[in-house]
Amino acid sequence: MGILSKKEKRGHWTLHTHFLRKDVYECSICHCKSDKAYKKCPSCGAAMGKTVYDPSWVDEAVDMEIINDDDFLI
Ligand SMILES: [Zn+2]
Repeated sequence: MGILSKKEKRGHWTLHTHFLRKDVYECSICHCKSDKAYKKCPSCGAAMGKTVYDPSWVDEAVDMEIINDDDFLI
């Protein structure tokens, strides 16, 4: 069988969607934001598995009635 390194961090991307902007991927380990679902997190180096879609981001945006989303990105 294959060898799994237990030292290696493993995480996943959570995909947040915007209405007018590009999608944003958030690392489940360090919560950094990325514009692409890299195989490894560029911030913490975790090996990334599947991407999880987080629809709550949309709900929040709707609740806040975001029109000027320039202020929405950190
Ligand atoms: Zn990370």
